[in-house]
Amino acid sequence: MRVLVTGGMGFIGSETVLALMENGHEPILVDNLSNSKEDVLDKIEKISGKRPHFHKVDCCDYEGFRKVFEEEKNIEAVIHFAGLKAVGESTRKPIEYYTNNLLSTLVLLRLMKEYGVHNIIFSSSATVYGVPKRVPLVESDPVGGATNPYGETKVMIERILEDANKADPSLNVILLRYFNPIGAHPSGLLGEDPNGIPNNIMPYISQVASGKLKTLHVFGDDYPTPDGTGIRDYIHVLDLAEGHVAALNKIVENPGVVAYNLGTGKGTSVFELINAFEKATGVKVPFVVDPRRPGDVAANFANCDKAFHELHWKAKRNVEDACRDAYRFQTTGASK
Ligand code: NAD
Ligand code: UDP
Repeated sequence: MRVLVTGGMGFIGSETVLALMENGHEPILVDNLSNSKEDVLDKIEKISGKRPHFHKVDCCDYEGFRKVFEEEKNIEAVIHFAGLKAVGESTRKPIEYYTNNLLSTLVLLRLMKEYGVHNIIFSSSATVYGVPKRVPLVESDPVGGATNPYGETKVMIERILEDANKADPSLNVILLRYFNPIGAHPSGLLGEDPNGIPNNIMPYISQVASGKLKTLHVFGDDYPTPDGTGIRDYIHVLDLAEGHVAALNKIVENPGVVAYNLGTGKGTSVFELINAFEKATGVKVPFVVDPRRPGDVAANFANCDKAFHELHWKAKRNVEDACRDAYRFQTTGASK
């Protein structure tokens, strides 16, 4: 299929572009490079031997984005990754987050209607479940009550897409709710390379291991979990990318609106993650225990049975694989 990939130069988008090409699809990338670099395209070419079409365009810019639809013709589906994603920053810059994430989606939906594109796969997040009442989370659990503006944009966009489908049932929508994506491409060329001090634990651990940062700060060891540290569902970004290919196979069946959790179904604590990293890389990760981080929950992991039964997809890689790949990227591909 000819698939428009917004945010295709980013961490998850670039891996998905590779997975799409491996499976015989033709991705067309749109990105404003606000959180990615132009050389990602060279790296995609180096890995795959193919250079997909790339348009440096802001999805909020109707005229600029319309030219992409006009030039590319016959787009069959869209995977919508483009968005701002830093939780902490979203509380400081809510207007920027609501504007970018909502407007890009609205402009995209308008263009899809104008150009007769009926299939959209959206990058949603476990954050739409708010503070979980129980884990593992299932797709029918209540959505809403996100704890920050970033999460609210995901809740709102899910709602917008549902309403768009109600008004026009020919629009197929797959909501993919990601848990905690980690890891990198095994080549060491593509991965997560955040600006400044990382907020997320995996790039933080990798930077401590590589000597860029001194010590990991573990946020709380007094949670009601077996070792006292927070539990999350860490999924290798390559597994996540393959989940999008599986969703594309599903969307041609005209499913209407459907949501899937993409995780491993397995919870890993912060201490377990540190151990897995040390085992996988042979590098020690010095840490100190700090107080809990405000807004964090004790445990958050997915039930992924729905994706397994309906998409015939499940995560194949484990946390150690992801740690090894993340560290390889940190020491080869990431900015020093
Ligand atoms: P990323 O920042 O690496 O990729 C997003 C890409 O979108 C970037 O390349 C950025 O330049 C681009 N972009 C942003 N706004 C744009 C706009 N208006 N027009 C065009 N391009 C724009 O992030 P990622 O980790 O790859 O995340 C991709 C998607 O998955 C996001 O929607 C994110 O919210 C969602 N998600 C990510 C995680 C995670 O932990 N990484 C978890 C759940 C959901
Ligand atoms: N965490 C930590 N130190 C860090 C960053 C995160 O101990 O520097 C913990 C955090 O409290 C949570 C887990 O690691 O239990 C995952 O946090 P992350 O920010 O990566 O993802 P989140 O689940 O919050 O989106």
